[in-house]
Amino acid sequence: MTDFSMKLNEDQLTLQKWVHDFAENVVRPAGEEWDEKEEFPYPIVEQAKEIGLYSWEFMAEAMMNDPTGLSMPIAIEELFWGDAGIGMAIMGSGLAAAGIASSATPEQLMEWVPQCYENADTGKLALGAFCASEPDAGSDVGGYRTSAKYDEKTDEWVLNGTKAWITNGGISDIHVVVAVVDPELGSKGHASFVVPPGTKGLSQGQKYKKHGIRASHTAEVVLDDVRVPGRCLLGGKEKLDERIARVRRGEKGNSQAAMQTFEATRPAVGAQALGVARAAYEYSLEYAKEREAFGRKIIMNQSIAFMLADMATEIEASRLLIYRAAWLGKNKGFKNAEGSMAKLKAARTATWVTERAIQILGGYGYTREYPVERWHRDAKIHDIFEGTEQIQQLVISRAISDLRIE
Ligand SMILES: Cc1cc2nc3c(=O)[nH]c(=O)nc-3n(C[C@H](O)[C@H](O)[C@H](O)COP(=O)(O)OP(=O)(O)OC[C@H]3O[C@@H](n4cnc5c(N)ncnc54)[C@H](O)[C@@H]3O)c2cc1C
Repeated sequence: MTDFSMKLNEDQLTLQKWVHDFAENVVRPAGEEWDEKEEFPYPIVEQAKEIGLYSWEFMAEAMMNDPTGLSMPIAIEELFWGDAGIGMAIMGSGLAAAGIASSATPEQLMEWVPQCYENADTGKLALGAFCASEPDAGSDVGGYRTSAKYDEKTDEWVLNGTKAWITNGGISDIHVVVAVVDPELGSKGHASFVVPPGTKGLSQGQKYKKHGIRASHTAEVVLDDVRVPGRCLLGGKEKLDERIARVRRGEKGNSQAAMQTFEATRPAVGAQALGVARAAYEYSLEYAKEREAFGRKIIMNQSIAFMLADMATEIEASRLLIYRAAWLGKNKGFKNAEGSMAKLKAARTATWVTERAIQILGGYGYTREYPVERWHRDAKIHDIFEGTEQIQQLVISRAISDLRIE
Protein backbone atom coordinates (compact mmCIF):
# COMPACT_ATOMS: atom_id res chain seq x y z
CA MET A 1 0.00 0.00 0.00
CA THR A 2 1.34 3.46 -0.90
CA ASP A 3 1.08 6.34 1.56
CA PHE A 4 -1.60 8.94 1.02
CA SER A 5 -0.19 12.26 -0.15
CA MET A 6 -1.67 15.38 -1.71
CA LYS A 7 1.75 16.14 -3.22
CA LEU A 8 1.62 15.01 -6.82
CA ASN A 9 4.53 12.98 -8.17
CA GLU A 10 6.33 13.67 -11.47
CA ASP A 11 4.07 11.38 -13.52
CA GLN A 12 0.93 12.93 -12.06
CA LEU A 13 2.19 16.47 -12.71
CA THR A 14 2.99 15.55 -16.31
CA LEU A 15 -0.47 14.02 -16.74
CA GLN A 16 -2.11 17.08 -15.19
CA LYS A 17 -0.29 19.44 -17.55
CA TRP A 18 -0.99 17.29 -20.60
CA VAL A 19 -4.74 17.22 -19.97
CA HIS A 20 -4.82 20.86 -18.88
CA ASP A 21 -3.15 21.99 -22.14
CA PHE A 22 -5.72 20.05 -24.18
CA ALA A 23 -8.56 21.45 -22.06
CA GLU A 24 -7.28 25.01 -22.38
CA ASN A 25 -6.43 24.97 -26.09
CA VAL A 26 -9.10 22.68 -27.54
CA VAL A 27 -11.94 21.99 -25.09
CA ARG A 28 -12.57 25.38 -23.44
CA PRO A 29 -12.68 27.35 -26.74
CA ALA A 30 -15.24 24.88 -28.16
CA GLY A 31 -17.53 24.75 -25.10
CA GLU A 32 -19.99 27.47 -26.01
CA GLU A 33 -20.42 26.32 -29.64
CA TRP A 34 -21.29 22.72 -28.77
CA ASP A 35 -23.54 23.75 -25.89
CA GLU A 36 -25.53 25.90 -28.32
CA LYS A 37 -25.61 23.17 -30.99
CA GLU A 38 -26.63 20.48 -28.48
CA GLU A 39 -24.82 17.91 -30.59
CA PHE A 40 -22.14 15.34 -29.89
CA PRO A 41 -18.79 17.09 -30.52
CA TYR A 42 -17.25 14.49 -32.85
CA PRO A 43 -14.37 16.74 -34.08
CA ILE A 44 -13.23 17.43 -30.53
CA VAL A 45 -13.47 13.78 -29.47
CA GLU A 46 -11.48 12.90 -32.62
CA GLN A 47 -8.75 15.28 -31.46
CA ALA A 48 -8.81 13.66 -28.00
CA LYS A 49 -8.42 10.29 -29.77
CA GLU A 50 -5.48 11.60 -31.83
CA ILE A 51 -3.53 12.56 -28.72
CA GLY A 52 -4.49 9.32 -26.93
CA LEU A 53 -6.75 10.88 -24.30
CA TYR A 54 -9.80 9.17 -25.80
CA SER A 55 -8.56 5.58 -25.69
CA TRP A 56 -8.89 2.46 -23.63
CA GLU A 57 -5.12 2.45 -23.13
CA PHE A 58 -5.35 5.81 -21.37
CA MET A 59 -8.22 4.60 -19.18
CA ALA A 60 -6.36 1.39 -18.29
CA GLU A 61 -3.13 3.26 -17.55
CA ALA A 62 -4.84 5.90 -15.40
CA MET A 63 -7.01 3.42 -13.54
CA MET A 64 -4.71 0.46 -13.08
CA ASN A 65 -1.10 1.57 -13.16
CA ASP A 66 -1.15 4.29 -10.51
CA PRO A 67 -0.99 2.76 -7.02
CA THR A 68 -2.18 6.04 -5.46
CA GLY A 69 -5.46 6.05 -7.44
CA LEU A 70 -5.11 9.80 -8.07
CA SER A 71 -4.40 9.82 -11.82
CA MET A 72 -8.02 9.55 -12.90
CA PRO A 73 -9.37 12.37 -10.72
CA ILE A 74 -6.41 14.56 -11.68
CA ALA A 75 -7.09 14.08 -15.42
CA ILE A 76 -10.85 14.46 -15.08
CA GLU A 77 -10.66 17.67 -13.05
CA GLU A 78 -8.57 19.29 -15.79
CA LEU A 79 -10.79 18.04 -18.63
CA PHE A 80 -14.00 19.24 -16.97
CA TRP A 81 -12.32 22.53 -16.09
CA GLY A 82 -12.21 22.94 -19.90
CA ASP A 83 -15.88 22.10 -20.43
CA ALA A 84 -18.19 19.59 -18.78
CA GLY A 85 -20.37 18.83 -21.83
CA ILE A 86 -17.36 18.01 -23.99
CA GLY A 87 -15.67 16.36 -21.00
CA MET A 88 -18.64 14.04 -20.70
CA ALA A 89 -18.55 13.31 -24.44
CA ILE A 90 -14.92 12.22 -24.01
CA MET A 91 -15.49 10.30 -20.77
CA GLY A 92 -18.94 8.79 -21.54
CA SER A 93 -17.54 5.64 -23.16
CA GLY A 94 -15.70 5.03 -19.90
CA LEU A 95 -19.06 4.24 -18.28
CA ALA A 96 -19.48 1.33 -20.69
CA ALA A 97 -15.86 0.26 -20.20
CA ALA A 98 -16.33 0.31 -16.41
CA GLY A 99 -19.60 -1.61 -16.75
CA ILE A 100 -17.78 -4.30 -18.73
CA ALA A 101 -14.76 -4.35 -16.41
CA SER A 102 -16.91 -4.80 -13.30
CA SER A 103 -18.21 -8.24 -14.33
CA ALA A 104 -16.44 -9.49 -17.47
CA THR A 105 -14.10 -12.43 -17.81
CA PRO A 106 -10.55 -11.40 -18.87
CA GLU A 107 -11.34 -12.55 -22.44
CA GLN A 108 -14.54 -10.49 -22.57
CA LEU A 109 -12.69 -7.49 -21.19
CA MET A 110 -10.08 -7.65 -23.94
CA GLU A 111 -12.68 -8.22 -26.63
CA TRP A 112 -15.18 -5.48 -25.76
CA VAL A 113 -13.46 -2.62 -23.90
CA PRO A 114 -11.22 -1.54 -26.85
CA GLN A 115 -14.31 -1.54 -29.08
CA CYS A 116 -15.87 1.16 -26.87
CA TYR A 117 -13.17 3.51 -28.22
CA GLU A 118 -12.14 2.33 -31.66
CA ASN A 119 -13.55 0.17 -34.42
CA ALA A 120 -11.40 -2.97 -34.53
CA ASP A 121 -11.39 -3.15 -38.35
CA THR A 122 -11.26 0.48 -39.47
CA GLY A 123 -9.50 2.12 -36.51
CA LYS A 124 -12.20 4.80 -36.57
CA LEU A 125 -13.67 6.43 -33.48
CA ALA A 126 -16.19 4.25 -31.64
CA LEU A 127 -18.45 4.98 -28.65
CA GLY A 128 -19.78 3.00 -25.72
CA ALA A 129 -22.94 3.40 -23.60
CA PHE A 130 -23.85 1.96 -20.22
CA CYS A 131 -27.60 1.33 -20.12
CA ALA A 132 -28.99 0.80 -16.63
CA SER A 133 -31.63 3.48 -15.82
CA GLU A 134 -35.19 3.08 -17.03
CA PRO A 135 -38.12 5.51 -17.40
CA ASP A 136 -39.70 4.18 -14.18
CA ALA A 137 -36.55 3.23 -12.28
CA GLY A 138 -33.43 5.36 -11.87
CA SER A 139 -32.35 5.30 -8.23
CA ASP A 140 -34.55 2.28 -7.57
CA VAL A 141 -32.49 -0.34 -9.39
CA GLY A 142 -34.73 -3.11 -8.07
CA GLY A 143 -37.47 -1.68 -10.32
CA TYR A 144 -35.77 -2.39 -13.67
CA ARG A 145 -38.07 -4.17 -16.14
CA THR A 146 -35.83 -4.78 -19.14
CA SER A 147 -35.80 -8.55 -19.48
CA ALA A 148 -33.19 -11.01 -20.71
CA LYS A 149 -34.46 -14.50 -21.59
CA TYR A 150 -32.20 -17.37 -22.53
CA ASP A 151 -32.94 -19.31 -25.72
CA GLU A 152 -31.30 -22.69 -25.18
CA LYS A 153 -31.80 -23.81 -28.78
CA THR A 154 -29.68 -21.04 -30.23
CA ASP A 155 -27.55 -20.19 -27.16
CA GLU A 156 -28.76 -16.61 -27.43
CA TRP A 157 -30.17 -14.07 -24.97
CA VAL A 158 -33.22 -12.07 -26.01
CA LEU A 159 -33.44 -8.55 -24.56
CA ASN A 160 -36.61 -6.46 -24.38
CA GLY A 161 -37.27 -3.12 -22.70
CA THR A 162 -36.51 0.60 -22.69
CA LYS A 163 -33.55 2.31 -21.07
CA ALA A 164 -33.72 6.02 -20.18
CA TRP A 165 -31.20 8.87 -19.88
CA ILE A 166 -28.40 6.94 -21.52
CA THR A 167 -25.17 8.83 -22.22
CA ASN A 168 -24.21 8.00 -25.85
CA GLY A 169 -27.43 5.93 -26.07
CA GLY A 170 -28.30 4.83 -29.60
CA ILE A 171 -25.18 6.40 -31.18
CA SER A 172 -22.78 3.90 -29.64
CA ASP A 173 -21.02 0.92 -31.15
CA ILE A 174 -21.14 -0.99 -27.87
CA HIS A 175 -24.16 -0.87 -25.55
CA VAL A 176 -23.78 -2.53 -22.17
CA VAL A 177 -27.29 -3.38 -20.95
CA VAL A 178 -28.31 -4.30 -17.41
CA ALA A 179 -31.34 -6.61 -17.60
CA VAL A 180 -33.50 -8.76 -15.35
CA VAL A 181 -32.82 -12.48 -15.69
CA ASP A 182 -34.78 -13.51 -12.59
CA PRO A 183 -37.67 -11.14 -11.78
CA GLU A 184 -38.29 -12.70 -8.35
CA LEU A 185 -34.89 -11.66 -7.02
CA GLY A 186 -35.12 -7.86 -7.49
CA SER A 187 -31.72 -6.20 -7.99
CA LYS A 188 -30.00 -9.55 -7.23
CA GLY A 189 -31.61 -11.04 -10.33
CA HIS A 190 -29.79 -8.74 -12.79
CA ALA A 191 -27.07 -9.48 -15.32
CA SER A 192 -25.12 -7.31 -17.77
CA PHE A 193 -24.93 -7.95 -21.51
CA VAL A 194 -22.87 -6.49 -24.33
CA VAL A 195 -24.89 -5.62 -27.40
CA PRO A 196 -22.32 -5.72 -30.24
CA PRO A 197 -22.21 -3.16 -33.07
CA GLY A 198 -25.01 -3.41 -35.63
CA THR A 199 -27.22 -5.77 -33.63
CA LYS A 200 -30.82 -5.75 -34.91
CA GLY A 201 -33.61 -4.53 -32.61
CA LEU A 202 -31.64 -1.88 -30.72
CA SER A 203 -32.63 1.68 -31.57
CA GLN A 204 -32.48 5.19 -30.18
CA GLY A 205 -35.69 6.56 -28.67
CA GLN A 206 -36.10 10.22 -27.82
CA LYS A 207 -33.00 12.38 -27.49
CA TYR A 208 -33.37 14.52 -24.36
CA LYS A 209 -33.15 18.32 -24.50
CA LYS A 210 -31.12 19.07 -21.41
CA HIS A 211 -30.48 21.89 -18.92
CA GLY A 212 -26.69 21.42 -19.07
CA ILE A 213 -23.84 19.24 -20.44
CA ARG A 214 -25.62 19.72 -23.74
CA ALA A 215 -22.66 18.58 -25.86
CA SER A 216 -23.06 15.15 -24.28
CA HIS A 217 -25.64 12.99 -26.07
CA THR A 218 -28.36 11.58 -23.77
CA ALA A 219 -31.17 9.43 -25.17
CA GLU A 220 -33.52 6.52 -24.64
CA VAL A 221 -32.41 3.11 -25.87
CA VAL A 222 -35.16 0.80 -27.07
CA LEU A 223 -34.53 -2.96 -27.09
CA ASP A 224 -37.02 -4.87 -29.21
CA ASP A 225 -36.28 -8.61 -29.34
CA VAL A 226 -32.55 -7.94 -29.40
CA ARG A 227 -30.76 -11.28 -29.77
CA VAL A 228 -27.17 -11.51 -28.57
CA PRO A 229 -24.94 -14.60 -28.50
CA GLY A 230 -24.40 -16.40 -25.18
CA ARG A 231 -20.82 -15.07 -24.98
CA CYS A 232 -22.26 -11.52 -24.57
CA LEU A 233 -23.44 -12.29 -21.04
CA LEU A 234 -20.72 -10.65 -18.93
CA GLY A 235 -19.09 -13.12 -16.56
CA GLY A 236 -20.61 -16.11 -18.37
CA LYS A 237 -23.65 -18.35 -17.80
CA GLU A 238 -22.03 -20.72 -15.34
CA LYS A 239 -21.18 -17.89 -12.96
CA LEU A 240 -24.64 -16.38 -13.35
CA ASP A 241 -26.37 -19.71 -12.61
CA GLU A 242 -24.19 -20.18 -9.52
CA ARG A 243 -24.96 -16.67 -8.26
CA ILE A 244 -28.71 -17.04 -8.81
CA ALA A 245 -28.70 -20.41 -7.03
CA ARG A 246 -26.80 -18.88 -4.08
CA VAL A 247 -29.31 -16.04 -3.78
CA ARG A 248 -32.22 -18.47 -4.03
CA ARG A 249 -30.75 -20.53 -1.18
CA GLY A 250 -30.75 -17.30 0.85
CA GLU A 251 -26.96 -17.17 1.08
CA LYS A 252 -25.41 -13.73 1.36
CA GLY A 253 -23.95 -12.32 -1.84
CA ASN A 254 -20.65 -10.49 -1.99
CA SER A 255 -22.24 -7.14 -1.20
CA GLN A 256 -19.03 -5.80 0.38
CA ALA A 257 -17.18 -6.23 -2.92
CA ALA A 258 -20.05 -4.61 -4.85
CA MET A 259 -20.04 -1.68 -2.43
CA GLN A 260 -16.30 -1.21 -2.91
CA THR A 261 -16.77 -1.17 -6.70
CA PHE A 262 -19.45 1.53 -6.61
CA GLU A 263 -17.54 3.58 -4.09
CA ALA A 264 -14.39 3.36 -6.22
CA THR A 265 -16.06 5.01 -9.25
CA ARG A 266 -17.49 7.95 -7.30
CA PRO A 267 -14.31 10.01 -6.81
CA ALA A 268 -14.07 10.33 -10.60
CA VAL A 269 -17.58 11.80 -10.76
CA GLY A 270 -16.65 14.13 -7.91
CA ALA A 271 -13.61 15.21 -9.93
CA GLN A 272 -15.87 16.18 -12.83
CA ALA A 273 -17.81 18.49 -10.52
CA LEU A 274 -14.57 19.82 -9.05
CA GLY A 275 -13.33 20.84 -12.51
CA VAL A 276 -16.50 22.83 -13.18
CA ALA A 277 -16.36 24.48 -9.74
CA ARG A 278 -12.73 25.49 -10.20
CA ALA A 279 -13.42 26.98 -13.62
CA ALA A 280 -16.19 29.18 -12.22
CA TYR A 281 -14.18 30.17 -9.15
CA GLU A 282 -11.12 31.20 -11.16
CA TYR A 283 -13.23 33.14 -13.63
CA SER A 284 -15.17 35.04 -10.96
CA LEU A 285 -11.97 35.80 -8.98
CA GLU A 286 -10.42 37.45 -12.02
CA TYR A 287 -13.64 39.29 -12.78
CA ALA A 288 -13.92 40.61 -9.21
CA LYS A 289 -10.38 41.98 -9.45
CA GLU A 290 -11.25 43.87 -12.65
CA ARG A 291 -14.83 45.05 -12.22
CA GLU A 292 -15.36 48.41 -10.54
CA ALA A 293 -18.42 49.70 -8.70
CA PHE A 294 -18.69 52.68 -6.33
CA GLY A 295 -15.18 53.69 -7.37
CA ARG A 296 -13.39 50.51 -6.28
CA LYS A 297 -12.80 46.97 -7.47
CA ILE A 298 -15.69 44.82 -6.34
CA ILE A 299 -13.30 42.35 -4.66
CA MET A 300 -12.44 45.11 -2.17
CA ASN A 301 -15.90 44.60 -0.64
CA GLN A 302 -15.73 41.92 2.02
CA SER A 303 -19.05 40.49 0.86
CA ILE A 304 -17.45 39.60 -2.51
CA ALA A 305 -14.01 38.68 -1.14
CA PHE A 306 -15.50 36.44 1.55
CA MET A 307 -17.69 34.74 -1.02
CA LEU A 308 -14.54 33.94 -2.99
CA ALA A 309 -12.80 32.78 0.19
CA ASP A 310 -15.66 30.37 0.88
CA MET A 311 -15.63 29.16 -2.74
CA ALA A 312 -11.88 28.45 -2.55
CA THR A 313 -12.32 26.63 0.77
CA GLU A 314 -15.15 24.41 -0.49
CA ILE A 315 -13.13 23.54 -3.61
CA GLU A 316 -10.06 22.58 -1.57
CA ALA A 317 -12.21 20.52 0.82
CA SER A 318 -13.80 18.72 -2.14
CA ARG A 319 -10.42 17.92 -3.68
CA LEU A 320 -9.16 16.56 -0.38
CA LEU A 321 -12.16 14.23 -0.07
CA ILE A 322 -11.85 13.15 -3.72
CA TYR A 323 -8.14 12.35 -3.49
CA ARG A 324 -8.63 10.53 -0.19
CA ALA A 325 -11.51 8.49 -1.60
CA ALA A 326 -9.56 7.69 -4.78
CA TRP A 327 -6.65 6.49 -2.66
CA LEU A 328 -8.91 4.45 -0.36
CA GLY A 329 -10.60 2.94 -3.43
CA LYS A 330 -7.26 1.86 -4.87
CA ASN A 331 -6.15 0.45 -1.53
CA LYS A 332 -9.45 -1.26 -0.65
CA GLY A 333 -9.76 0.88 2.45
CA PHE A 334 -13.33 2.23 2.41
CA LYS A 335 -15.01 2.25 5.82
CA ASN A 336 -17.77 4.84 5.83
CA ALA A 337 -18.71 5.33 2.18
CA GLU A 338 -15.91 7.85 1.61
CA GLY A 339 -16.46 7.61 -2.17
CA SER A 340 -20.05 8.75 -1.72
CA MET A 341 -18.95 11.51 0.64
CA ALA A 342 -16.52 12.83 -1.98
CA LYS A 343 -19.13 12.77 -4.75
CA LEU A 344 -21.81 14.35 -2.56
CA LYS A 345 -19.54 17.15 -1.38
CA ALA A 346 -18.02 17.95 -4.79
CA ALA A 347 -21.39 17.98 -6.56
CA ARG A 348 -22.93 20.33 -4.00
CA THR A 349 -19.81 22.50 -4.15
CA ALA A 350 -20.02 22.78 -7.94
CA THR A 351 -23.70 23.72 -7.91
CA TRP A 352 -23.12 26.29 -5.16
CA VAL A 353 -19.84 27.74 -6.48
CA THR A 354 -21.19 28.21 -10.01
CA GLU A 355 -24.29 29.95 -8.62
CA ARG A 356 -22.07 32.27 -6.55
CA ALA A 357 -19.98 32.95 -9.66
CA ILE A 358 -23.10 34.21 -11.44
CA GLN A 359 -23.75 36.46 -8.41
CA ILE A 360 -20.25 37.91 -8.60
CA LEU A 361 -20.62 38.67 -12.31
CA GLY A 362 -24.02 40.29 -11.71
CA GLY A 363 -26.07 40.94 -14.85
CA TYR A 364 -23.26 39.77 -17.10
CA GLY A 365 -23.17 36.48 -15.23
CA TYR A 366 -26.79 35.86 -16.08
CA THR A 367 -26.20 36.19 -19.83
CA ARG A 368 -24.90 33.59 -22.23
CA GLU A 369 -22.10 35.99 -23.20
CA TYR A 370 -20.18 34.82 -20.13
CA PRO A 371 -19.44 31.17 -19.41
CA VAL A 372 -20.51 31.04 -15.76
CA GLU A 373 -24.18 30.72 -16.78
CA ARG A 374 -23.30 27.58 -18.76
CA TRP A 375 -21.08 26.21 -16.01
CA HIS A 376 -23.94 26.59 -13.53
CA ARG A 377 -26.22 24.56 -15.82
CA ASP A 378 -23.44 21.99 -16.31
CA ALA A 379 -22.70 21.68 -12.59
CA LYS A 380 -26.21 20.59 -11.59
CA ILE A 381 -26.04 17.18 -13.26
CA HIS A 382 -23.55 16.05 -10.63
CA ASP A 383 -26.28 16.23 -7.96
CA ILE A 384 -28.34 13.83 -10.10
CA PHE A 385 -26.46 11.19 -12.08
CA GLU A 386 -24.29 8.33 -10.81
CA GLY A 387 -26.43 8.31 -7.66
CA THR A 388 -28.44 11.39 -6.67
CA GLU A 389 -27.61 13.61 -3.70
CA GLN A 390 -30.20 11.72 -1.62
CA ILE A 391 -28.90 8.30 -2.65
CA GLN A 392 -25.38 9.32 -1.58
CA GLN A 393 -26.85 10.43 1.77
CA LEU A 394 -28.62 7.09 2.03
CA VAL A 395 -25.39 5.16 1.38
CA ILE A 396 -23.44 7.28 3.87
CA SER A 397 -26.10 7.12 6.58
CA ARG A 398 -26.28 3.33 6.30
CA ALA A 399 -22.49 3.05 6.42
CA ILE A 400 -22.08 5.26 9.50
CA SER A 401 -25.04 3.78 11.41
CA ASP A 402 -24.93 0.16 10.31
CA LEU A 403 -28.72 0.43 10.11
CA ARG A 404 -31.05 -0.10 7.18
CA ILE A 405 -32.10 3.59 6.90
CA GLU A 406 -34.94 4.02 4.34
C1 LIG B 1 -27.59 13.74 -18.31
C2 LIG B 1 -27.83 12.40 -17.74
C3 LIG B 1 -27.01 11.34 -18.10
C4 LIG B 1 -27.26 10.07 -17.58
N1 LIG B 1 -26.48 9.01 -18.02
C5 LIG B 1 -26.83 7.75 -17.64
C6 LIG B 1 -26.17 6.62 -18.22
O1 LIG B 1 -25.25 6.77 -19.05
N2 LIG B 1 -26.58 5.38 -17.87
C7 LIG B 1 -27.58 5.18 -16.97
O2 LIG B 1 -27.89 4.04 -16.70
N3 LIG B 1 -28.23 6.23 -16.41
C8 LIG B 1 -27.88 7.51 -16.73
N4 LIG B 1 -28.54 8.58 -16.19
C9 LIG B 1 -29.64 8.34 -15.25
C10 LIG B 1 -29.34 8.77 -13.84
O3 LIG B 1 -28.41 7.91 -13.26
C11 LIG B 1 -30.69 8.85 -13.10
O4 LIG B 1 -31.38 9.97 -13.60
C12 LIG B 1 -30.49 8.95 -11.60
O5 LIG B 1 -30.00 7.74 -11.11
C13 LIG B 1 -31.78 9.30 -10.88
O6 LIG B 1 -32.82 8.48 -11.26
P1 LIG B 1 -34.24 9.10 -11.68
O7 LIG B 1 -33.96 10.17 -12.67
O8 LIG B 1 -35.14 7.99 -12.04
O9 LIG B 1 -34.76 9.81 -10.36
P2 LIG B 1 -35.59 9.12 -9.18
O10 LIG B 1 -34.89 7.89 -8.75
O11 LIG B 1 -37.01 9.02 -9.58
O12 LIG B 1 -35.44 10.20 -8.05
C14 LIG B 1 -36.23 11.39 -8.02
C15 LIG B 1 -35.93 12.12 -6.72
O13 LIG B 1 -36.28 11.28 -5.61
C16 LIG B 1 -35.14 11.08 -4.78
N5 LIG B 1 -35.19 9.71 -4.24
C17 LIG B 1 -35.38 8.55 -4.92
N6 LIG B 1 -35.32 7.50 -4.08
C18 LIG B 1 -35.05 8.00 -2.85
C19 LIG B 1 -34.86 7.42 -1.56
N7 LIG B 1 -34.90 6.10 -1.37
N8 LIG B 1 -34.60 8.24 -0.52
C20 LIG B 1 -34.56 9.59 -0.70
N9 LIG B 1 -34.72 10.19 -1.89
C21 LIG B 1 -34.97 9.41 -2.95
C22 LIG B 1 -33.94 11.31 -5.68
O14 LIG B 1 -32.78 11.65 -4.94
C23 LIG B 1 -34.43 12.44 -6.56
O15 LIG B 1 -34.28 13.65 -5.90
C24 LIG B 1 -28.31 9.86 -16.65
C25 LIG B 1 -29.10 10.94 -16.27
C26 LIG B 1 -28.90 12.18 -16.81
C27 LIG B 1 -29.80 13.31 -16.41
